[in-house]
Amino acid sequence: MTARKKSYAEVAVALPVFKTLTYEVPEVFHSVVTPGKRVLVPVRNSKVTGYILGCFDNTDQANIKEIIDIIDDEPLFPPSMVEFFRWIATYYLHPIGEVIKAALPGGLNARQGRVRPKKALYVRTTDKKPRISALSKTSDNLLNIVNTHGEISLQALKKEIPSAGRLVKKMNEAGFLELVERNVYRDPFGEAIEPQPTPYVLTKEQAPVVETIIDVLGKGFQTYLLYGITGSGKTEVYMQAVAKALEKGYQALVLVPEIALMSQIERVFRARFGDCVALLHSGLSQGERFDQWMRIVHKKVKIAIGARSAIFAPFEHLGLIIVDEEHDESYKQENKLRYNARDLAVVRAKEQSAVVLLGSATPSVQSYHNVLAGKFRGLRLKKRIEDQVLPKVTVVDLKQTEGRRRAKPFITEELKSAISETLARKEQVLLFLNRRGFANCPTCTACGSPIRCKNCEVTMTLHQEANCFKCHYCGYTIPQAAGCSICGNPKVIPIGLGTEKVEAKVQSLFPEARVARMDRDTTARKGALVKILKDLRTGAIDILIGTQMVAKGHHYPNITLVGILCADLSLNFPDFRSAERTFQLLAQVAGRAGRGKSPGRVILQTFNPEHSCITTARDQDYAGFYKNEIPFRKTAAYPPYWRLVQILITGKDKEKTAQYAGTVGKICRDLLAEHKSFRSTVKFLGPVTAPLARIRKEYRWQLLLKGAKTIPLHKLARLLKAKAQQEIPARGVKIIIDVDPVNML
Ligand code: ADP
Ligand code: ZN
Repeated sequence: MTARKKSYAEVAVALPVFKTLTYEVPEVFHSVVTPGKRVLVPVRNSKVTGYILGCFDNTDQANIKEIIDIIDDEPLFPPSMVEFFRWIATYYLHPIGEVIKAALPGGLNARQGRVRPKKALYVRTTDKKPRISALSKTSDNLLNIVNTHGEISLQALKKEIPSAGRLVKKMNEAGFLELVERNVYRDPFGEAIEPQPTPYVLTKEQAPVVETIIDVLGKGFQTYLLYGITGSGKTEVYMQAVAKALEKGYQALVLVPEIALMSQIERVFRARFGDCVALLHSGLSQGERFDQWMRIVHKKVKIAIGARSAIFAPFEHLGLIIVDEEHDESYKQENKLRYNARDLAVVRAKEQSAVVLLGSATPSVQSYHNVLAGKFRGLRLKKRIEDQVLPKVTVVDLKQTEGRRRAKPFITEELKSAISETLARKEQVLLFLNRRGFANCPTCTACGSPIRCKNCEVTMTLHQEANCFKCHYCGYTIPQAAGCSICGNPKVIPIGLGTEKVEAKVQSLFPEARVARMDRDTTARKGALVKILKDLRTGAIDILIGTQMVAKGHHYPNITLVGILCADLSLNFPDFRSAERTFQLLAQVAGRAGRGKSPGRVILQTFNPEHSCITTARDQDYAGFYKNEIPFRKTAAYPPYWRLVQILITGKDKEKTAQYAGTVGKICRDLLAEHKSFRSTVKFLGPVTAPLARIRKEYRWQLLLKGAKTIPLHKLARLLKAKAQQEIPARGVKIIIDVDPVNML
């Protein structure tokens, strides 16, 4: 009798354990055990789900248990992703099984919510050409239309030529036209997306940029930062680079910031590439997400577009990864696995020898620094398409307006007259204020206390429309009539400013104007955001007031005036990135003006007109902003020079949380004393109460580790985490490790 050949599998279980486990594969499963499938395995006394990472014939481990079952018929991710998952687990100090769980789409077991795509007939020309003289004028016209589109839906054709149905049938029989059935996609406005397969002829600026990318595709790993001002045609660059990657047999991944609506980019990609695009975003149901995922696994699509989690799209031969608006902070995941998809794009590309293209009109300090340090290569687009000029920015000093009235007007005379002029020209106005609600600091007239949230250490915001005070951190509300919770006085003065107050004021100043507001409150209902955007497009809105929602991704050609009501709101946050964030927001909002035929104008109101962040945003002077910002980062030991690991301690019990923060601080100091190697490379700050000291009933403490080098910094964090977890004092007290934190509050 010959000894049976044994087989083993390395399995990552979806539990908080850092090591992978080895299991024996029973003979019945020998032919179906493959990396990427889920398995059921015994761990202590229970059965848990795990993921197969690899298979091998022998092991030196003893007491090996057997796999109970293999769950999937086919792998959920290609073997080439296993190393990527391992890297993430190590770098972000997160158990590998939980990394994979976070990467895979939800609803793996639920296959509900499948949507059958709608089909429609499309028309295109054939090689057979009719003699022109043999055609009626209408048929000739129809052929011309089909030719210019390359391919057009019968429905769209009928809009131009009512008799198209009959004519197409005749010309199809004669062999001049052919008909194809295609899935139709609709944009959020419910309109079908017409295919536009023909690329633009590149401008003199775009051509060399595309050329550079195309040139390196397939020749190994490289990262590019495309710094192109708003409206400079970055999307066309992306599309032509993607087209080339596909031509060379690769797949391409396009990451976009998380926004409430299908973005401009998704729409134009669908129009250009049609069926071979998968969409992965939060608007999909679990079933739809899973379907999109499996289309990628089955190689039915070559392009995926999605928000941050799309970085895990299961492509096997990625050639190109694009990260649009790379500075956007929505690439950072803020719970469980706290990864940054922009950074992971670079890691994944490196592993697959692919090219990364990061694009932005306001690059992150980190990425720009990487260009100057020679880690990334820089590409530029300096001009707007068709030489549209950038809007002219006027700065209005809010300090100067103080004397005129007791209460400071937040619509200054300058802004008011600019609005009047714009309305008179029948053009649209965008007013930006990065704060929703009516008043952010409602205060009792009797005792002078602001209205505070009972769950959080913050003031509540007065929402006049909803007739309540609302906490923007936990959502807790109390009726406006309740008044002061400290002295019971019913009268509260609405101190502070929010979009609701702006709307009321604007409506009273311009009673004839049609005013709308776009913020989280007005867009909470399904379909509400679509309606606002549609009204804006059709000209049913004259003045739109909005929070940072309006700064992102949308293209409004008839907006010629942008008013920034108070540019300073984000400037004084206790966060080392507040200047960077403010610059980006101002430059992006300003870039919304004048994207159509008429030139744009921006009025920027501020209390700090000399602040470098404001003056450089006014001039759209990124290099100037960077030059001013970078010395501060260097002397204060912040990124991009030093790396950070933030440790957050939270808990409902005030004493125990504070005590544990102290314990973690002591562990950290002991580790620093024990290991000489850390002392010169790692700095340690804290523990201190977080700027947001209590949120959702939880007390919050912070410790900050700064490292001149990644390896010792992460080593210290790893040791600290292991020790600290053994000392957790009570249930409900938690330690959270945030590597490369974005939110410092
Ligand atoms: P960005 O993303 O850089 O802000 P967009 O990609 O939105 O700019 O481009 C601005 C506009 O210019 C879009 O309407 C786009 O269709 C158009 N466009 C881009 N490239 C070309 C080109 N080569 N020729 C003509 N129009 C172009
Ligand atoms: Zn609250």
